[in-house]
Amino acid sequence: MNSVSTRRISILGSTGSIGVSTLRLLDETGVAGKDYVIETLVGGRNVALLAEQALKYRPAITVLADETQWPAFRALIGDSGLEIACGASAVCEAAGRKADWIMAAIVGIAGLKPTWAAAGTGAILALANKEALVCCGRALIERVEAHGGKVLPVDSEHNAIFQVLDDPGRVSKLVLTASGGPFLGRSREDLKAVTVEQALKHPNWSMGAKITIDSATLANKGLEFIEAAYLFDMPGSQIDVLVHPQSVIHSMVEYKDGSSLAQLGSPDMRVPISYCLGWPKRIDWQAPKLDLAARGVLTFSAPDLTAFPMLRLAREALEAGEGMPTVFNAANEVCVQAFLDRKIAFLQIAEFVESAMMRAQLPSIPSKDHASRDTNDETMTRALEIDSEIRRLVGELFANARLSA
Ligand code: NAD
Ligand code: MG
Repeated sequence: MNSVSTRRISILGSTGSIGVSTLRLLDETGVAGKDYVIETLVGGRNVALLAEQALKYRPAITVLADETQWPAFRALIGDSGLEIACGASAVCEAAGRKADWIMAAIVGIAGLKPTWAAAGTGAILALANKEALVCCGRALIERVEAHGGKVLPVDSEHNAIFQVLDDPGRVSKLVLTASGGPFLGRSREDLKAVTVEQALKHPNWSMGAKITIDSATLANKGLEFIEAAYLFDMPGSQIDVLVHPQSVIHSMVEYKDGSSLAQLGSPDMRVPISYCLGWPKRIDWQAPKLDLAARGVLTFSAPDLTAFPMLRLAREALEAGEGMPTVFNAANEVCVQAFLDRKIAFLQIAEFVESAMMRAQLPSIPSKDHASRDTNDETMTRALEIDSEIRRLVGELFANARLSA
C-alpha cells in the first residue's frame, strides 16, 4: 500500500501552535498521506481539534493527555475504528513508537518525558520543546545520536544557525536575534503595571500562551541562549543576543575569518519546520516571500538587562550548571502560570525566579560536561526531581509573599 520511501511522522503536541503549523505544512506541500503517513498524534486537552485531526489523518494511534476529557474524546471518535488512548503513560508510549520523523512540540516540562522517549527511537527529532533540552542538556542530544537519530532544531533562531553552520570549528560567535517582544523600549518603571492581555500581544509571531509571555519577559531568549549552548556545544561566552524588532534575520553565525552568515525569512514557523521536514534537502512549497524592499529598514540594538533580567538570569543559570537551568525553567514555568492567573505582577516573574535560583538546594548533579551518554534515564529523572522540588519552593515563596490566591 505505502511506497518504500513513505515516512512515518509523529506529532507530539499536534493541537498546539507548532503542531497545527506542521500539519498545515504537510497539507500545503501536498505530501500528507502520500510520501508521509501519520504514525502518532498527541494532544493535551483540546479534544475537538484532536478528534478532527485524528479523523482527517487517520494515524496509527492518537493519544489524549488529559484523562478528564476521555469520554468526550471517545464520543467524538465514535465508531471510526481509530486506535485511541489517554493519560500520561500512554503519551510516553506513543512518543516512543518507531517513526522516521518526530515533531516534539509539547510545551514546557510536560514535554520532557515524551521528548526523552522520542529521543530513544532512532528517529529524526524535530525539537520545538526547548524546555526539555534546557533541563536535560547534552544528554538529550547524545541519547538521540546513540540511537542513530538526529536532532533538528525547530526554534527559528537555532534553525537559522543550523542552516548556516558550515564550519563549526571556526565559529567565533553565535548571535541570537530577539524581537524584543511587546514591551521593547519600556523601562522597568513602565513594566510595573503591564497586563496579561498586553503581554499576550506579540508584535511578530503567533504562538502558544506560555512562549508568548516568555517572549515578553525575554525568558524565551534566555531559554534559547541555554538551548544554543547545548545544541551547538558552545560556551555562553560565545553566544550573544541582539535585539532586531523586525524578525527578518533569524540569527547569525560569526566566523573567525570575519564573515557573518545569517538566515532570513518571514516570521512564519512553517519555514523552519519545512527545513526540518525536508532535511537534508529543502522542500519546494509556496512559502511566504520576504519582500525586503517593502520592509525597508532593519534595526539592531543590545538587550536591556535592567528592564528584562530574565536574560541575565538564564546566562547565570548556564554558567552555574549543575541543574540550575532546570531551576530557571521550573521557576519560570510556575511564575508564568501565576502571571496568567493574575496572581503575580509581570516584574515579579523575574523576582521569584531569581529568589528560587538563590535558594535552590540542588542534589549533586553532574554538570553538562559530565552528563555523558545517558543510557538509563538518569538525567531525565533527576531533571524531573529538581523540577518538582522547585515548584514546591516557588509555592513557598508565593505563600511567604502573602499572595492572595
Ligand atoms: P501551545 O501551547 O500552542 O501547544 C502546546 C501543545 O502541547 C498542545 O498540543 C497541547 O495540547 C500539548 N500539551 C500541553 N500539555 C500537555 C501534556 N501534559 N501532555 C501532552 N501534551 C500536552 O505551544 P506552542 O507555541 O506550539 O509551543 C510548543 C513548544 O514549541 C514549546 O516548547 C515552545 O517553546 C516551542 N516553540 C514554539 C514556537 C511557536 O512559534 N509557537 C516557536 C519556537 C519554539
Ligand atoms: Mg525562537
